[in-house]
Amino acid sequence: MSTITNGALGTDLTAPVVPERRERLVATEVGRPRRVLLAAPRGYCAGVDRAVIAVEKALEQYGAPVYVRKQIVHNVHVVSELEKKGAIFVDEVDEVPEGSHIVFSAHGVSPAVVQGAADRGLAAIDATCPLVTKVHREAVRFAKQDYRILLIGHAGHEEVEGTMGHAPDRTILIGTPDEADTVEVPDAEALIWLSQTTLSVDETMETVRRLRARFPHLQDPPSDDICYATQNRQVAIKKVAPDADLVIVVGSANSSNSVRLVEVALEYGAKAAYRVDYASEIEQAWLDGVATVGVTSGASVPEVLVQEVLADLADAGFDEVEVVKTAEEDLLFSLPKELRIDRSGQQDARALGGRARA
Ligand code: SF4
Repeated sequence: MSTITNGALGTDLTAPVVPERRERLVATEVGRPRRVLLAAPRGYCAGVDRAVIAVEKALEQYGAPVYVRKQIVHNVHVVSELEKKGAIFVDEVDEVPEGSHIVFSAHGVSPAVVQGAADRGLAAIDATCPLVTKVHREAVRFAKQDYRILLIGHAGHEEVEGTMGHAPDRTILIGTPDEADTVEVPDAEALIWLSQTTLSVDETMETVRRLRARFPHLQDPPSDDICYATQNRQVAIKKVAPDADLVIVVGSANSSNSVRLVEVALEYGAKAAYRVDYASEIEQAWLDGVATVGVTSGASVPEVLVQEVLADLADAGFDEVEVVKTAEEDLLFSLPKELRIDRSGQQDARALGGRARA
């Protein structure tokens, strides 16, 4: 297996992946050629890449431990690899010893969290994805202009908590299209909707349609809040799904965009769709009567985990892989400002290392 590195420090994300498969998968005979349709783009987005590199560089620059508030990105493998290197993940800043370094995750934080870190004398490194920061800025700007903000997103998700925290008195959360039918709004004249970055595009548009039916003055955000990576991965799986007997989405249970990919695959015609963290979670029964397997991964998933799925499928007889590519991605974000100077004092604006691209 070739080495896939991630990030400026070359973290080896091919390190042993757990757990091992116990039994070999076997394809059943269905009278059709067996194949894999591999969606592209898939996997790491620019914001996740930057956040993971930020933790790695912080460890290099300041030494272990470096504290990280919440999971830096929603992927169990990434978190466990960073833990091995000396990152300590905490829920809140008051768990961090005074004077330590803390990294804020890609999902962003509210101003109250930033203040809490400052009050404890923590040196904060903000790895919030710039596309999440864009939504924060929109929330602040429209709150200042006395708009009521209808934020479409999932209650309890860290990104939603961070965005709401930027305009707590002006924001109303809408979790589902059905909630759009019942939400009460104090002043329906100055209304704007914003959204979490990792939602289903189709479901969000349905929520907006229902909101607008009730509130005709509702304004759209200045630009898409659902980010390019979420949209691109959904477009790719929409192309794959109609031909797939089975879709396997690699991603963690708390990864919003990974869970959305399963939903979108089913909605667009996949006969079955499942999410797995690791190849070893693929169940033999899923392959019964299957000729075509679609494979994709969420925006926080290193490519090595997808390659392990492909290896297990090939071993089972699905050794023909056709890439279904619907977009090119070349977006890069520069590192948080605290990490842009390397050890020799030189400007280091790297955002990406040698990550394999879909
Ligand atoms: S999924 Fe989108 S918003 Fe989230 S980190 Fe990636 S690019 Fe940023």
